[in-house]
Amino acid sequence: MPTYSHSQLSTYETCPHQYRLAYIDKIEVETESIEAFMGSRVHDTLEKLYRDLKVTKLNTLEELLAFYQQIWEKNWNDLIQIIRKDCSAEDYRRLGEKCIIEYYNRYYPFDQGKTLGLEEYVYFPLEEEKGYWIRGFIDRVTLVDSSILEIHDYKTSNRLPSQEEVESDRQLALYQMGVGGKWQGIEEIRLIWHYLTFDMEIHSSRTPEQLEQLRQKTLELIQRIEADRQFLPKEGPLCDWCDYQGFCPKRKHLIAVGNLPPNEYLKEEGVALVNQYVEMKERKRLLNEEVDTELTKIEKALYAYAQIEEIESVFGSDHVAKIKIEMREKYPLKNDPSRKMLDELIKKAGKWMEVSDLNPWMLARIIGRRGWPPSLVNKVKEFCSIEESRSITITKLKERE
Ligand code: SF4
Repeated sequence: MPTYSHSQLSTYETCPHQYRLAYIDKIEVETESIEAFMGSRVHDTLEKLYRDLKVTKLNTLEELLAFYQQIWEKNWNDLIQIIRKDCSAEDYRRLGEKCIIEYYNRYYPFDQGKTLGLEEYVYFPLEEEKGYWIRGFIDRVTLVDSSILEIHDYKTSNRLPSQEEVESDRQLALYQMGVGGKWQGIEEIRLIWHYLTFDMEIHSSRTPEQLEQLRQKTLELIQRIEADRQFLPKEGPLCDWCDYQGFCPKRKHLIAVGNLPPNEYLKEEGVALVNQYVEMKERKRLLNEEVDTELTKIEKALYAYAQIEEIESVFGSDHVAKIKIEMREKYPLKNDPSRKMLDELIKKAGKWMEVSDLNPWMLARIIGRRGWPPSLVNKVKEFCSIEESRSITITKLKERE
């Protein structure tokens, strides 16, 4: 039965190739970012806080911090990656500690509600007919005033989302769908995010209509995933934190050569080829510049010569230069401010079809962006053939740290 989780769906949205490596090829990776490591330890500590409370044990802040320190040390390993070179593991450990201290002080003595579930597993059908199911774990489920259910989620990210982003967040809304009907007498469900590094709580809720819209959108996303045959890599700012860089065609060379000593690094075949390529391109650019300057000088001299001599053909040893000077009409190009007015004028005159032309490049872009109805796309695609396109684009790397 196809089962999806929120993080699985998010992975696809971030990068389809990462999705393929993680969920289709099921490649096991051992590395973990320090941000994820710190987040897990803070989650473990808050879970302990509420788990102990269930058996009436209220940990002191010192006890909790000792637990945090202990699990930090116990789980620490050399495969944890610190991407930001200006920060140390200790900086991140302290940040996690700060999250716990602020959380503790804000909610002490933790009597805001009854804890119904910790790491509560939800598993429910998104679409029974097609057999799509959703699974996930809720950090904490709390009952307030016997009829209000709160879904709590802890975040340790260093970015605070806007209220608008939270209102359209998928994760907790899916969890709301998952807990619906699980407990009796619930009249209201609240979604609560704890942005721990900001010591902030953000609230939202969903109407049945909003949940239905989310269900539809999630189904569309799942169908898109299932129809994908390419799972193309989508490079972005999060690539540095991607655990699959060593398997990704966009990054694996960088990872492979990253640890080579400088003398071997420069000899590596790919590195050497790119360096040669860039050097040649630069030489070509300089040569072109030089030749262009010379050509412009000669052209100017030829025009001047032809004008002085009042001739239109100048003869060399094996070639003749035919000089043509004429006045031509020039109409505004696409980015010219007056172009829109010109377009309107021609459209209004009913002559647009005489001058417009299908732009195959633009057509391919629109089809790729899925901007048209699938039925039309399928018909248009009958005219499409596949050909290999090759290119090398050179981009300057950021300074190596
Ligand atoms: S490194 Fe970037 S492009 Fe490659 S799989 Fe990861 S997220 Fe995708």
